[in-house]
Amino acid sequence: MLSPHLLGVAGFPVGHSRSPVMHAAALRELRLPWRYLKLPLPPELFAEAARALPAAGYVGVNVTVPHKLAALRLADHSTPTAKAIGAANTLTFTEAGIEADNTDAPGLIGALGESPSGRRALVLGAGGAGRAAAWALREAGAEVSVWNRTPERGRDLAAELGIGYAERAAGVPDLVVNATSVGLDPDISEQRVLEALGLRVREPPAALVDLVYGERETALTAWARRGGSAVVDGLEVLVHQGALSLERWTGRGPPLAAMRAAAAHGGLDIR
Ligand code: NAP
Repeated sequence: MLSPHLLGVAGFPVGHSRSPVMHAAALRELRLPWRYLKLPLPPELFAEAARALPAAGYVGVNVTVPHKLAALRLADHSTPTAKAIGAANTLTFTEAGIEADNTDAPGLIGALGESPSGRRALVLGAGGAGRAAAWALREAGAEVSVWNRTPERGRDLAAELGIGYAERAAGVPDLVVNATSVGLDPDISEQRVLEALGLRVREPPAALVDLVYGERETALTAWARRGGSAVVDGLEVLVHQGALSLERWTGRGPPLAAMRAAAAHGGLDIR
């Protein structure tokens, strides 16, 4: 019997993830008879379960909340990007052991579609996603500041990365990246989102990335679009980070259009 080629996403919870439908579409397009599965792993089982995956036929897995730090810790080798960010979202199982990478950072830059070099960028949020976004933009040559609801956490990140800390979010930078979880509630009003993030109604930036995504357009992206901003939504960032992981596992060029279409219609049957 042929050994199975399995991929997956490990998280807790993981039921909401669009990665399985997106990767299933990509594997179909590439005509690879591989499968990409959801792996709901509670934190206390994550390391042990992850180490057992290669023997079960897994080539690699994406890792999401709350396992990104643990994924970096358990790996035998890590890329400089994963080490610098302090978190991994991609594990690859090789003969040399478990390799950890972080495709969230290059995925964000890829989703922008153009270099942010020289642009003034403001990252809202200093959690895992904010950290990866601020590092990625700084590496790509942007002039980065971070703002966070809990200022100490934001100041710590700013000091660690050698970037600015913005006391207030308002001030019209060239690019705003929402890396907070504000907007995850699909029923939150535009006014509440802008208030929570300290943004001014009349000051949309030239470009805005909202890492939050859901069933419909977020209140933040709707506001930015109306104000004339160039908008990149969270699904586009998801597609780019997933594409980089898939390329790493398969060695094949990822079919971005098929992945984008599947991610946008998250309800597709993945069989
Ligand atoms: P996290 O580590 O838990 O950080 C959450 C962040 O949101 C913190 O900065 C927190 O500020 C802030 N926050 C939470 N509630 C807030 C509120 N009411 N007002 C203002 N700030 C608030 O989470 P994460 O892993 O960074 O993820 C953040 C978001 O990015 C999530 O929605 C996630 O789904 C999304 N994401 C998307 C992608 C993608 O590919 N599209 C990838 C990664 C993450 P405090 O420090 O003050 O608590």
